[in-house]
Amino acid sequence: MLLSKHFSKSRSNVYLCMMQSVRDIIDQNLFTVENLVTLLSSSVDDGLYLLKKAGEVKLKTIGNKVYFRGLIELSNVCEKDCLYCGIRKSNDAIERYNLTDEEVLGAARFAFAERYGSIVIQSGEVTNEQFVARIERLIRQIKALSDNKLGITLSLGEQTEAVYRRWFDAGAHRYLLRIESSNPELYRQLHPDDGKHLYQQRLASLKIMKQIGYQAGTGIMIGTPFQTMQDLANDLLFFREFDIDMVGMGPFIEHDDTPFRNPVAGSLSLPERFNLSLRMVAILRLMMPDINIAATTALQAIDPLGREKAVKAGANIIMPNITPGKYRNNYLLYNNKPCTNEEPEQCGGCLDARLSLADSEIGYGEWGDSRHFEKKEKG
Ligand code: SAH
Repeated sequence: MLLSKHFSKSRSNVYLCMMQSVRDIIDQNLFTVENLVTLLSSSVDDGLYLLKKAGEVKLKTIGNKVYFRGLIELSNVCEKDCLYCGIRKSNDAIERYNLTDEEVLGAARFAFAERYGSIVIQSGEVTNEQFVARIERLIRQIKALSDNKLGITLSLGEQTEAVYRRWFDAGAHRYLLRIESSNPELYRQLHPDDGKHLYQQRLASLKIMKQIGYQAGTGIMIGTPFQTMQDLANDLLFFREFDIDMVGMGPFIEHDDTPFRNPVAGSLSLPERFNLSLRMVAILRLMMPDINIAATTALQAIDPLGREKAVKAGANIIMPNITPGKYRNNYLLYNNKPCTNEEPEQCGGCLDARLSLADSEIGYGEWGDSRHFEKKEKG
């Protein structure tokens, strides 16, 4: 009798040691791969606790401000052929465009007038000298027209060290390059095997931009073909290990003109990818309380209030689209991209109203740099 009682008690202790409760993991910051998988796949109730805790940690650490980065989608011309992306080189169902310099500068003036603290220049990947010199010139012109006040983030893919340096010297101070997956094997499955889409090259680019002095941002898609919960857990650990300053991650959404147009067997549904994305944001906020985390547009493609929900769960950056409306239908990375029929003027007010729902305030006219980066700089 005694023996069996003792036995069952010690069994339950062993069980407890093996499987931490969601609350313990969160309250004691026990972020191992196994525990992260537990958080990602926990019950609805535990999930709500996670989102609530992350919101609290954000408020306590960096406050309730959300910073805008006006997004300029400069061009959909791309030298790469990523299997998931709607603007991949092999997609000949889209019309390729390039904004004129005047349109880029007009968008920057709009952002400045609206007191967005920063802009992001994003484009398909182009590496020729003409493109590089054009970006360099545009950065200098945007700095000049805003009296050095607009912050500039670039999202222009893999470039050489010399190019990253030229753009940094011209005045860009943040760079976004998603690692897409920190698992080299999964990275390989998401990209063509042509010697031009190499995980090691991606990683090297991120390291170089950090060394140059950029605030470095990276990220992943959630719910891609072949991805597992362990992959996502390892991605979170990668962000921390790499000591990243900013992260943008959102659900993967199929695009009809790509090889991944149909969900592969065992794929998560879109609502599942959405919920998992919110959990990823929340866990990352707990793991890295002072970094910048974006509430990505892909969230809004699944749920009209997706970005606001992410802000509640720990995100603090939003990228309103300020690309002239006529081009937006050609920068479709995935199906059902929101706001493609709007002009820039319509985005700011709409976001302002929505964010007040998430008890947030917009940091107008501020750069809203990553506190994490600032702390590192001060040493
Ligand atoms: N050429 C730039 C910008 C690429 S687009 C670069 O390489 O960084 C920006 C991001 O959109 C990509 O990094 C990818 O993570 C995301 N994206 C592409 N296709 C997507 C899809 N089908 N669903 C969701 N996100 C996608």
